[in-house]
Amino acid sequence: MQLICILCPRGCHIEINQGEDGKWEVKGYACKRGRDYAIQEATCPLRVLTTSIWVEGGNHRLVSAKTDRSIPKDKIIESLKQTKGLTVKAPIDIGDVLIENIAGTGANLIATRRVDIKQV
Ligand code: SF4
Repeated sequence: MQLICILCPRGCHIEINQGEDGKWEVKGYACKRGRDYAIQEATCPLRVLTTSIWVEGGNHRLVSAKTDRSIPKDKIIESLKQTKGLTVKAPIDIGDVLIENIAGTGANLIATRRVDIKQV
């Protein structure tokens, strides 16, 4: 498996393969972080989920949101299903938890923008 390390601008091209003994053979990384990243990608790739949630009574109709930590890539669809049809009430502050423990990942979905109550 070949991948490009995204942890810094250097963008090392890393090759990772698993030997018959189960050990990882990793080439092309320039630091330990890159080696660890490659093994993580090969075993359980993680991603930060970003999305938008409907808001009721706010000065914006949507609030942008993201998970407060990376979650397993194979939990992204299940997590998005949990956000489907969800509406939260204004006011919302940056960092407010919109969904706790999304898809059982241990991560929370948090707001990344402020939404005030709509003035009439
Ligand atoms: S392996 Fe290290 S130096 Fe290379 S891109 Fe990743 S973090 Fe940067």
